[in-house]
Amino acid sequence: MINDFEYFTPKTVEEALALLSQYKEDSKVIAGGQSLLIPMKQGLVAPKYLIDIKGISSLDYISFDENDGLKIGSLTTHRAVEQSPVIRKRFGLLSEMESKVASVQTRNWGTIGGNLCHSDPAGDPVPVLIALNGTVKMVSSRGERTISVEDFSTDYFETVLEPDEILAEIQVPDLPPHTGNAYIKFTKREGDMAIVGTTVSITLDSKNGICKDVRIVLGAIAPVPMRAREAERVLVGKEINNKLLEKAANAASEEASPVSDIHASEEYRKELVKVLVKRVGREALERAQKA
Ligand SMILES: Cc1cc2nc3c(=O)[nH]c(=O)nc-3n(C[C@H](O)[C@H](O)[C@H](O)COP(=O)(O)OP(=O)(O)OC[C@H]3O[C@@H](n4cnc5c(N)ncnc54)[C@H](O)[C@@H]3O)c2cc1C
Repeated sequence: MINDFEYFTPKTVEEALALLSQYKEDSKVIAGGQSLLIPMKQGLVAPKYLIDIKGISSLDYISFDENDGLKIGSLTTHRAVEQSPVIRKRFGLLSEMESKVASVQTRNWGTIGGNLCHSDPAGDPVPVLIALNGTVKMVSSRGERTISVEDFSTDYFETVLEPDEILAEIQVPDLPPHTGNAYIKFTKREGDMAIVGTTVSITLDSKNGICKDVRIVLGAIAPVPMRAREAERVLVGKEINNKLLEKAANAASEEASPVSDIHASEEYRKELVKVLVKRVGREALERAQKA
């Protein structure tokens, strides 16, 4: 049963930050409530003050320019990200990933910022944003700070956010030339959370096709999405072929440390990493060669 709480509906970021600064640990931000209401109903989270930011329209936007890259307000829904023409044109991977988050109903209400702050290790956006070298801007009445998405989640359902901070914006730099990327989410049923999620982003040297940069990011195999850095080292500086991708996939599987749960065993997840890194890597490579 949900505990009693006082409910606020600030209309500006400043109002929300003033409330958070007043109530700190006793308060909780709510965006769409899709993830927060579950632990509240279970009694695991029992805020005295609930600060509903869904009505702050200044946090709901998508903008792009070639110097500053892509900026997404934290209250932008999954569906808006999925359908944005500029995201489809320039960051197709983000749109593709969003089309795999839950169902249209969930995507119509859930926010990308709420998803990051919930910090579910099986969530879809974080691995993809890490592969895209994304950053997040957090604000509080003390000021603002920006960190990489890679450093934002710290543990199962934990982030670096302080109790008086709000995640305000997600930023993605424009892609370097000759970059290709892909994402696969392995599930038992469409729309489920990932059993393993895998993203690969490859940047090739235009002169000789050598791999200049690569990011391989795995979801649902550790407390937070992780880069498979050993696997990346296998590919960088080389001309990628199937044999090398297989070597990288084996390295990724070695460095993954999944747990067994009701959805899949540790061994099964490790096998999946081998298969998916190879498969997604091939797709990312083909896209980079055409970019
Ligand atoms: C049926 C169902 C299926 C789902 N399937 C998937 C899936 O396949 N893949 C996937 O990735 N996700 C999935 N999700 C989660 C979904 O993406 C939610 O949209 C997401 O978790 C955020 O929900 P929300 O915006 O309602 O945030 P809320 O539930 O309101 O908040 C979530 C957490 O973030 C905090 N928070 C929210 N916004 C901010 C902010 N701007 N600043 C600071 N703190 C903030 C809240 O305090 C809370 O702790 C699913 C959810 C449901 C209900």
